[in-house]
This record gives sequence, C-alpha cells and structure tokens, in this order.
Amino acid sequence: MATKRDYYEVLGVEKSASKEDIKKAYRKLAIKYHPDRNAGNPEAEEKFKEATEAYEVLGDDKKRQAYDQFGFAGVEGNMGAGGAHDYSNVFHDFQDIFGGDFSIFDTFFGGGGSRSSRGYGGQYRGADLRYNLDISFKDAVYGTKVEISYNRNVSCTECNGTGASAGSGRKRCPTCGGTGQVRRSSGFFSLASTCSTCHGEGSIIEKPCSHCGGSGVNRKVQKIKVTIPAGIEPEKQISIPGQGDAGPAGGVPGDLYVFVNVRPHDYFVRSGNDLYCIVPINIAQAALGCSINVDTLDDKKVKLKIPAGIQNGKRLRLKGEGVPFIHNPNKKGDLYIEIRIDTPERLNSKAKALMEELSQQLGENENPKPVRLSTL
Ligand SMILES: [Zn+2]
Ligand SMILES: [Zn+2]
Repeated sequence: MATKRDYYEVLGVEKSASKEDIKKAYRKLAIKYHPDRNAGNPEAEEKFKEATEAYEVLGDDKKRQAYDQFGFAGVEGNMGAGGAHDYSNVFHDFQDIFGGDFSIFDTFFGGGGSRSSRGYGGQYRGADLRYNLDISFKDAVYGTKVEISYNRNVSCTECNGTGASAGSGRKRCPTCGGTGQVRRSSGFFSLASTCSTCHGEGSIIEKPCSHCGGSGVNRKVQKIKVTIPAGIEPEKQISIPGQGDAGPAGGVPGDLYVFVNVRPHDYFVRSGNDLYCIVPINIAQAALGCSINVDTLDDKKVKLKIPAGIQNGKRLRLKGEGVPFIHNPNKKGDLYIEIRIDTPERLNSKAKALMEELSQQLGENENPKPVRLSTL
C-alpha cells in the first residue's frame, strides 16, 4: 500500500459511527476477507490486515479519540516493539466478533505470513499496474501499434534487486531473533504476528544499497510498444505479463493492464463486426433512384445504387466493408447504409413551381392512413 487509507474509510463507516456499528462493519469485512476463504489471494489478505488495523484503533475508545484528534500520528504508540501492530483489542473482542472462529488466529495471526503475497523462493510479487489508453475508432477496427510510457518500479541494477550494498549480506533480525514472528501472551493465549521489521523473513539487510535505499527497486519511466489487434472490442483490457512493478527484494514483477478506450467516430457506429451510418438523399433522388458514392472506414469511395421509390429509413448493405474478425482478419463484417430522405427546407421559385406541379400529379391525400410505431 502506497498511502494509508483513513480508518473510517477502510471500515466504510461515518466518523460519528457507534462502537456497535464499527464492530459490525469490521466483522463483515473480516469474514469477507478471511484468509481461510481467500487462500492464495494476497489482495484479500491485505484488506483483512487493513481492516483489522482500523478496528484495533476505532474499536477502542482511547485510541479512537487519539486518532480523531491527531490522525495516524495519534496512534503510532499502538505499534508494539519493533513496529509490530498490537492486536490485543481485536484479540479481546474476537470471540464476540467471529463467534468462536478460532481458526482465524491460526491462519492469520499465528501463521507468520505463510499466506502472504510471496512468489517462489520467499519473495514478494510486485504490483500490477493499470494504463488507460485512448485510441481512435479506426485504429480499433484495423489494429495499430502504440508506444506508451509509464512509471514503474524496476529491479535495482546496483544490487540486483537484493537491496544490500556490495559485499554486505543479511543478518538475523534483531526484533524477532530470526523467527519472522513476534509472540506475545494475552491471558491464556499466545498471540503471534508477522514481524514487521523483517516482514517475516527472519533476516534483514546489513548495509542497505545506497542506490535504492535497500528496497531493491527504483522508479523508472518505461516505454513499451503495445499491439492493438484489429477488431478489438471497445472497453477491452490487454494484459502484458511482467511489465508491472518489480517485486521488492528480487521478487517476481507484476503485470501491466492496458485498458483500451475507443473514441467514437464522426459518423460510423459499430455493432459486433458490422458498421452503420446514415446517408441523406433528397426527395427526387429517392423517388427516381440514383447512384451515390459512399465513404467506407478505410477511405474508399464505393458506388451504391439507390433503387427508385426507396423509403426513408431503409438500410442498404455493403458486404465486407465492416470490421475485420479478430481471429480471422481476412473475414469482415458488413457496412449498413441507412437512407434518410431530406425534405428541402427552402425552395427557389423554379423548384417550388415544379413541386406544386408534382403535388397536382400525385394528388393531395387529405386522409393519410396512420401506421403503428415499430419502436419508441
Ligand atoms: Zn523480524
Ligand atoms: Zn539497490
């Protein structure tokens, strides 16, 4: 977690919430993110820890008052020796909260980080990153390559991600004596939590690398090319494995997720692999029939024959002028042209005279027959 969230926000309660409401909110979260129910889900474990920490403070009147007044600084005394969190309040209330679900203490507090977000070899996995990419309608249809640049934690080149300066090794953690856990007796229970000095590793770096401050990672602007496949659907994600943050202490990197947003086209809309647009023609073209040139998405002009007597709203199909299929780019959808008959808003005297003559020829229908709406 980069920044700590407000404890009230974590539990999803108002600042004025009663003690009972706080307990209820924590119970709900603790059950939802219970490590037993979320095995192998580091995010759930983080959420569980976060909620537990928030409850430890807000569930205790004194700590809550200090937090309300001074924020996180007011409850720093809550940290036990070596910075480990004191969960005695949760511990005291847990039977009430979990209804005797003792296993939660075996798996979480006693587990010494056995379910933490580690990859192989006891290392932590780096965070997944999200990049929002805007592309044009046309690029989504025909595919493109886009270079993106973003900030990313990369493994420190100075220490190869170990966090230790050259020639320096690791030494036993002075807080936990190398066990990776801090134990504390509370009544007849012995309560264990992951040592926060060494994060359960049991050892710490002797002399931190000066280049990365011992974290094993450095912030860097990364540039990569992303291939957008032809026919990509709007609101699609592209995952790029291993291009997220490098893991601390040489852990495996997370993934990069590119969220693709497709900008709308001036006149084409898309449904599946078919394209649609409206083309206006005038009343004489509609009555007499005509041939028009239609723009396709790939900037061709295609001749389209309009049959005499075409009705307003009629759709004509241009086969194979639609969107390529994502798994078979040689195959394409169709382009549908919807005809709109534009009534002239102004007529010069000649056109007006011709219209009046036409009207006489067609005969004025004073009792047109209504038709039912097909859609609203
Ligand atoms: Zn330790
Ligand atoms: Zn380093």
